[in-house]
Amino acid sequence: MRNDIEKVLISTEEIEEKCKEIGAQLTKEYEGKFPLAIGVLKGALPFMADVLRHTEIHLEMDFMDVSSYGGEMRSSGEVKIVKDLDTKVEGRDLLIIEDIIDSGLTLSYLVDLFKYRKANSIKIVTLLDKPEGRTVDIKADVVGFNVPNEFVVGYGLDYQEKYRNLPYIGVLKPQVYGGV
Ligand code: 5GP
Ligand code: MG
Ligand code: MG
Repeated sequence: MRNDIEKVLISTEEIEEKCKEIGAQLTKEYEGKFPLAIGVLKGALPFMADVLRHTEIHLEMDFMDVSSYGGEMRSSGEVKIVKDLDTKVEGRDLLIIEDIIDSGLTLSYLVDLFKYRKANSIKIVTLLDKPEGRTVDIKADVVGFNVPNEFVVGYGLDYQEKYRNLPYIGVLKPQVYGGV
C-alpha cells in the first residue's frame, strides 16, 4: 500500500500536533455548552476520533453519511443522504467535522439542512481545505491544513475506498490511477 504513495504531504506527527491544537481551541469555544459533534462518514472518522480525544468538554457524537452523485474524484453537488443523524438538531450547537472541503457543495448542503432543522449554531471543522476547488461560497471555522489542488489520500480519505487507513496524507503515484 505504501508503495503506491508518490509523496507525503502531511505527516503523522503534524496531524497529531494539529489535533491537539484544535482540541484545545474547541474546549475553549464550547466551555459550558453541550455541542453535538457530527462526523461526516466515512472520511472524517480518524480526524474526528483524534481531535475530540483532545477536547475536555461534554459533547455528544453522531454521524451522517452522504454521497455525491458525482464521479469518484469530484462531487456533483447533488447530495444523497445515505445515513441520517439519530439525534434531533433543533436548538443544538453543531460541530460538523469533515475530512476535506473541495467544491464546498457537500458542506453547503449540510449547512442548509441543519439550518432548516433549526440548529442553534453551526461550526465547521475540517482537517483539510482546498480553497482553489471552491465553487460555492462556504468557509470552515477551523481548518487544519490548506492543501493544493491535488487529489490526496490517507487518514480517512480514499481512492476507490482504499488508503483510508494510511496514517498520513499523501498523493498517489500516477500509475495507481491507471495513468502513465
Ligand atoms: P466537496 O463537496 O467539497 O467538493 O467535496 C467533499 C468530498 O469530496 C470530501 O468529503 C471527499 O470525500 C471528496 N474529496 C474532495 N477532494 C478530495 C481529495 O483530494 N481526495 C479525496 N480522497 N477525496 C476528496
Ligand atoms: Mg468528507
Ligand atoms: Mg471518497
